[in-house]
Amino acid sequence: MNACGSSGWALDTPVVLTTMVCFGVIFLARWVVRQRYFPGRESFIVLHMASLWWMAAASLEMAAQGASCKVFWATMAWPGILLMPTFWAVFLWQYVNSVRQPLPLQSTLSLMIMPLLIWLMALTNPWHGLFYAAGTGPLSTEPGSPIRYDHGPLFFAAAVYVYLFMAFCMGVVLRAALVSYGVHRRHYVAFVVVTAVPWVANISYVVFGWTLFGFDPTPFSFALTLVAFAWLIVGVRLFDLLPVARHLLLDALLDPVLVVDAQLRVIEANPAALKLAGLRSSWQGRALNDWPILGADLQALLAENTPGDHERLLTLANSARYFEVRIRAIERLTRRGSQVLGQMLYLRDVTQRHLGELKLAEALALSEEQLRTITDLHEQLQEQALCDPLTGLYNRRYLDEFFARELSLAQREHLPISLALIDLDHFKRLNDEHGHLEGDDVLKGVALHLLENLRSSDAVFRIGGEEFLLIMPRADAVEARARLETICRDLAAHPLPTRGGARYVTLSAGLAIWPEQGPGLDELMQVADGALYQAKHEGRNRVCSLRSSAEALLPLKG
Ligand code: GH3
Ligand code: MG
Ligand code: MG
Repeated sequence: MNACGSSGWALDTPVVLTTMVCFGVIFLARWVVRQRYFPGRESFIVLHMASLWWMAAASLEMAAQGASCKVFWATMAWPGILLMPTFWAVFLWQYVNSVRQPLPLQSTLSLMIMPLLIWLMALTNPWHGLFYAAGTGPLSTEPGSPIRYDHGPLFFAAAVYVYLFMAFCMGVVLRAALVSYGVHRRHYVAFVVVTAVPWVANISYVVFGWTLFGFDPTPFSFALTLVAFAWLIVGVRLFDLLPVARHLLLDALLDPVLVVDAQLRVIEANPAALKLAGLRSSWQGRALNDWPILGADLQALLAENTPGDHERLLTLANSARYFEVRIRAIERLTRRGSQVLGQMLYLRDVTQRHLGELKLAEALALSEEQLRTITDLHEQLQEQALCDPLTGLYNRRYLDEFFARELSLAQREHLPISLALIDLDHFKRLNDEHGHLEGDDVLKGVALHLLENLRSSDAVFRIGGEEFLLIMPRADAVEARARLETICRDLAAHPLPTRGGARYVTLSAGLAIWPEQGPGLDELMQVADGALYQAKHEGRNRVCSLRSSAEALLPLKG
């Protein structure tokens, strides 16, 4: 303080105003400390301290009346001048990148080295004169006259150092303004404007010699900038209000939400996610795989999912509950592309829906099964209605339908249809001698014998107790007769197996041919019946046909 030993002090208006600004900075710092946290807050407080240091030194420089005392306080201002842009850069970097951890002590100390060295250079100026050169002195001889500084090379080196940090600050806020959008962009554009204020003040001082109270306006502009920043950050609360609102939203969500980092550690979980896992505390930072209940499944899910995959719907089944998991990559845009910082897992409880779907599918399968059964039964019933249960042959019910179809076909193609009425010989006697059950076995055997001699277009019907009707489409009288005689002969030659032993049985058959012997089924049946009667009359075990339909009535009369 030797330099100020003989200096007087003057409390003029500029000094009072500067001192008031100093108090303003103190109050601002106090206010900021009491506000809720924002990224880079510690650096922002350091900024206030640096500004305060600078302003206090400036105030003392103004108040001092002696020239050497003024230069001494100008020298003392340097820690504030240098720390201001340094921590400004740190603060802006932390704020813009949402860096919540304070700057590590080691980094803080290493950032202090240059300012301290430069300050040392300024303090030792009386010995080397490289900071303020010999031309440094008062503007006039009046006491308290401002000093005109003759800047030396070290001063310019210090200025370059300051400008580098200032340029870095500008770069950080400009980039933030460019890459953000909407309300965030407006916020950062305001940052750019506010960051430009000290530049403007400094350039107008250096280039145009513009002063405030005959003094460099830069420290005042910095103080103003602090106020503007404090208002932008704390007053608008953009970066504070939105996260709080988002957090509230996350808390209120009934669906579990988890955020994992690139190493798959859970760094955020809402109450629904904690409840599902049954966790209350010490979960933050825990590996996802170790999370109870859902961790392993989610980890497996993420392993399937390529990182950066945005919205893939997957179903996760954990015991009795089902979740639809939506995975969203949290990315940061870098110059080399996007970098995945972590992933957000949004689990939607779809248990009710899933169980409903399962029930529905079950009900559907059941009703399909029932429908199948009904269809089968219906088919069976239909078959039963058309078939004779003892022999399995078609019964009379199907006869009309079959004959109508064959008749229209024969009419179209001008082909004949042969029809044979077959009756077993002395069947009553067989029943009487061996019993009805053996008679039934014989009936089955005859049916089989007839079926074995059928062609694919033929059909055989059981139309009475031991009476059968054979319809042979496309067969004329000669062919039909030949085939029937073969059937008749073969039956007589081979005994039929019955429960009581092999039984011989013969048949008689009467033939009728369409269209010669009748236009329809009834007429043809009548002719065939006449021929059958004739076969019985002639001694049985034979095939008969009438020459004309009129002949059919003769034997009946006889
Ligand atoms: P014919 O040579 O003149 O035809 O003499 P028949 O004894 O066969 O006389 P008919 O054709 O009139 O006799 C029919 C007999 O067939 C009467 C009945 O006992 C027997 N019958 C009818 N339906 C069945 C049946 O479903 N099962 C058994 N076992 N016998 C039947
Ligand atoms: Mg009969
Ligand atoms: Mg008979």
